[in-house]
Amino acid sequence: SFKAAANGRILKKHCESEQRCLDRLMNDVLKPYVPAYHGDVVKDGERYNQMEDLLAEFDSPCVMDCKMGVSLNLLETVAINKISMLKVTQVSPGGPVERSDTAENTAPAPTPSPSNSALSLLFKKEDGTVNRDFKKTRTKEQVMEAFSEFTRGNRNVLNSYLNRLKGIRATLETSPFFKCHEVIGSSLLFIHDKQEQAKVWMIDFGKTTPLPEGQVLQHNVPWVEGNREDGYLWGLDNLIQILTELSQS
Ligand code: ADP
Ligand code: MN
Repeated sequence: SFKAAANGRILKKHCESEQRCLDRLMNDVLKPYVPAYHGDVVKDGERYNQMEDLLAEFDSPCVMDCKMGVSLNLLETVAINKISMLKVTQVSPGGPVERSDTAENTAPAPTPSPSNSALSLLFKKEDGTVNRDFKKTRTKEQVMEAFSEFTRGNRNVLNSYLNRLKGIRATLETSPFFKCHEVIGSSLLFIHDKQEQAKVWMIDFGKTTPLPEGQVLQHNVPWVEGNREDGYLWGLDNLIQILTELSQS
């Protein structure tokens, strides 16, 4: 569902709700943390959203996609107690992501390999309840391990990620967009390279939906049926805590 565009842009299969989000985000304080959006285009009869290729400024980038908040699957959302607060869905430890720069090739979305698919439900507890105390769980260690492998323990990379996450955290607090959207299935995309450039972006807004006029979310209170709380800030705080520990170890 991706195409590479020549000019440092990628084309993602068009989605109306994602377009609406990206349009709004371009006028929100979160703009620096979201790929620049360049409107929709039709190519070979298919409609796409055109956005900044976040990998473009990196040299042989390593990429990790962390899915935030509750599941995008409505049925699972109702069974909220089974849902993870943070999912690592894709990781390319150490090695660069395969990519091609030619305009005609399909874009290089990294595919999760069988060996790391176990990382996809990291914050789910065996008994099916939501994890509030990550300290005691094995799953937190798994996330740490994933990040430790992914960053190879590089302090500069870890600190850059951490600063960027803190910037995102602080900006979310003041974002009108965040206040009035339920953020489901969105990811934080971690990208670094061997020059030790390291940045994080918020991506994937296809399942993110505006709340009815006047309604707002806190993003850090428990989900109960009907309140639409997505737990986004919990996932983010857990991530910040994990990276802080890693950067000090
Ligand atoms: P999907 O709906 O398929 O999950 P995403 O927007 O999450 O779509 O994108 C899938 C993958 O493609 C991401 O994990 C990331 O690796 C890559 N990707 C998405 N957007 C960008 C972007 N703007 N620049 C570079 N890579 C991207
Ligand atoms: Mn995604």
